[in-house]
Amino acid sequence: MSGHDHGEDGAENGAGDFGPMAKLPVPEDVQDAIRTLIRWTGDDPTREGLLDTPARVARAWKEYCQGYGEDPAYHLSRRFEEVGGYNELVLLKDIPFQSHCEHHMAPIIGKAAIAYMPRDSVVGISKLARVLNAYARRLQIQERLTAEVAQCIQDHLNPQGVAVVIEASHACMTARGVRTPGVSMVTSRLMGCFLEDNRSRKEVLSLMGY
Ligand SMILES: [Zn+2]
Repeated sequence: MSGHDHGEDGAENGAGDFGPMAKLPVPEDVQDAIRTLIRWTGDDPTREGLLDTPARVARAWKEYCQGYGEDPAYHLSRRFEEVGGYNELVLLKDIPFQSHCEHHMAPIIGKAAIAYMPRDSVVGISKLARVLNAYARRLQIQERLTAEVAQCIQDHLNPQGVAVVIEASHACMTARGVRTPGVSMVTSRLMGCFLEDNRSRKEVLSLMGY
């Protein structure tokens, strides 16, 4: 199409890319797609400020969607069975995450609380956040994200129960459509003892702050 080849990002204007994606080559057809979108919005993709934008946007999207290249269960493969008789719940809360909704490809920004009741093993606590991110860095809906994180922990850690609560705001609601900033959506998935036992459910939800 336009045959542009703008090579490296213009770091001189402060918009350069950094990190592992900085040098990722972006195929011309991908850049063309973004030029088409820019034109569609009403701007001119050949004006100076937008020349390197298609490659930047493409790399940014690779980064937002890094989860496709990850097996979330991998993060639960290193388990510790020496838990010193600890069989009470493990909770990681206020885990920040970003995702993108599959309907508008708009940001979903929120926090998650993830808990499990160990049966015979535990994992390093940061692994729960890694599982979350492996699913969040994909095109998502919040309901599925919540369910997938819970199911992954249930399947690979075999705990007595899992509880996942996610609270997030959706840019497709806050920045467009009904434009309601400040609104957040809460989703939860409770499994095992947290689903079946009232006392366990109350305990986990209150520790989570709900
Ligand atoms: Zn949306």
